[in-house]
Amino acid sequence: MFDPAKIEEILSALPDAVRPLSSGLDHLGVAVKDLDATLPLYHQMLGLELLYEETVESDKVRVAVLEFGGGHLELLEPTSEDSPVAKFIEKRGAGLHHVALRVSDCATALKAVGEAGFQLIDQVPRNGAGGKQIGFVHPKSTGGVLLELCQPGS
Ligand code: ZN
Repeated sequence: MFDPAKIEEILSALPDAVRPLSSGLDHLGVAVKDLDATLPLYHQMLGLELLYEETVESDKVRVAVLEFGGGHLELLEPTSEDSPVAKFIEKRGAGLHHVALRVSDCATALKAVGEAGFQLIDQVPRNGAGGKQIGFVHPKSTGGVLLELCQPGS
């Protein structure tokens, strides 16, 4: 478990590749029940540009990614009842699902935060929407927020 008393020791041990971890929001993930019904709110009414839509089979979600100043908004609709997002909606309702920080090297970042005592959901990066390399950190170790470490696709 993360120990705030050890923060200096942890920080000094972090490789330089992880330092951008604290500098950039990549996107916010929002769980929605009905993507087609929710999308017009963000796209037409709020005027956020729709970048792309994609189905991520491994996570059983349909994703729409919109641009806002400084980051992206990821709307996630489960495509199956056993999707992790479906379970999230069942337990907590639709709403903010995860916060994604941009990292330059997802594998190195996951390793570093794992060694620092955070509980990893993904030990190694996997493929996310938009050709990104992603890995999740469990909310139990982050103050209740499902945290995604996200390396943009090249
Ligand atoms: Zn995400």
